[in-house]
Amino acid sequence: MPELVLRGGTVITMGAAGTFVGDVGIDGGRIVALGADVGRGDVELDARGQVVAPGLVQAHVHLCQTLLRGLADDMDVIDWLRERIWPLERAHDAETMGASARLGAAELLLGGTTTALSMESVHHTDAAFEAVEALGLRAVIGKAIMDQWEPGTEMIGEETDAAWSDVLRLVERWHGAAGGRLQVAVSPRGTRNATVEMWRRCVALAAERDLRLHTHVDENRGQAARFAATAEGRDLVALDAWGALGPRMVMAHCVWLDDAERTLLRESGAHVCHCPSANLKLASGIAPIPEYLADGVNVALGADGAACNNRLDAFTEMRLAALIHKPRLGPRAMPARTVLAMATLGGARALGLADEIGSLDVGKRADVIAVRMDRPHAWPGTASDPADRLVYASQATDVDHVVVDGRLVVRSGVLQTADVATLQVDAERARRTLLGRVRLPPS
Ligand SMILES: [Zn+2]
Repeated sequence: MPELVLRGGTVITMGAAGTFVGDVGIDGGRIVALGADVGRGDVELDARGQVVAPGLVQAHVHLCQTLLRGLADDMDVIDWLRERIWPLERAHDAETMGASARLGAAELLLGGTTTALSMESVHHTDAAFEAVEALGLRAVIGKAIMDQWEPGTEMIGEETDAAWSDVLRLVERWHGAAGGRLQVAVSPRGTRNATVEMWRRCVALAAERDLRLHTHVDENRGQAARFAATAEGRDLVALDAWGALGPRMVMAHCVWLDDAERTLLRESGAHVCHCPSANLKLASGIAPIPEYLADGVNVALGADGAACNNRLDAFTEMRLAALIHKPRLGPRAMPARTVLAMATLGGARALGLADEIGSLDVGKRADVIAVRMDRPHAWPGTASDPADRLVYASQATDVDHVVVDGRLVVRSGVLQTADVATLQVDAERARRTLLGRVRLPPS
């Protein structure tokens, strides 16, 4: 008898079983049965009328920035970093970091995101791990490595050896923790926020310990042009020269790749994380994602941080990813199934977890969501593809049940692992603490 059965939903597996109406049986943290009737479970959840799908994967967020929501709106990315993000991140202590990460993890889980790759700040990364460990999110987390300073980042940068020892300590403490639910990423903040020496150490460590590399790439056009004029050259040229451009690398944004970088991307096996809301809000541009997919590049989705989105909502990102490429390429570009694949298997592949998550297949870890379809904005459903309903009509608040690693973390829309009202009070207090430490320039 399975521990848990989601009963009678329209199940989009994204795997071998295709789409069917029936049950998902879960036991020992894994999917043990799929089909018309998998038998009774110790716990039964009625999913009739709901769409059941793999938990959504976001391959680029910043849990450390959840407290910064609404403090840095309508700004260019360069000003946004120098005038808001660096000073506010630097003001974090372990307590404010924990409050930020708990609020972010709660938002992710309640909205059906079961796995996130999160880049934190320079310090207090343990507090982010502790938050997601407690709330039940699956996460790959990296501290932001910033041992190369430029005007504006000297306020937040670290010495190379100090940064490195923190990376090694985090790997020892957290990689594989919580039964494998938590992993460590090696995460220079941007290609030029880390020294070449640091990049080489990161590449060697990632290979030795089988870790993901994660960084920001070609986000802003002016910044990309400025980097192009340096000795290292454009972002992907530099990453390639440092040995960092390969299947372990997950690159957020990739808005402004030139032709040579496109070739390097195609040949490298590196992954792109598309962040449409953040790219629009910071006026960075629109990444040519359909072209990357046509090149055979694996693409994931991500909300980026609450400071530049301002939601951590995979449904918003799916809808935008489906919509923003159509004016240029026509209405058939980026159909819903393609986008849902990016938000599930694409994310799982980017994180090196495709054997464990990203689809509902017997034997995989049980990361599953059930989404209500009974509200007016998703109604009626007769004869429509449930993937179309999820991508075009559904909202994050329609998510009813969420299972991560076999554990029911959201039941009937209620977070089971923390009291959300308490998290919100903690976040408000922590935000006041941060603002008490920083004098923001007028916007
Ligand atoms: Zn980012």
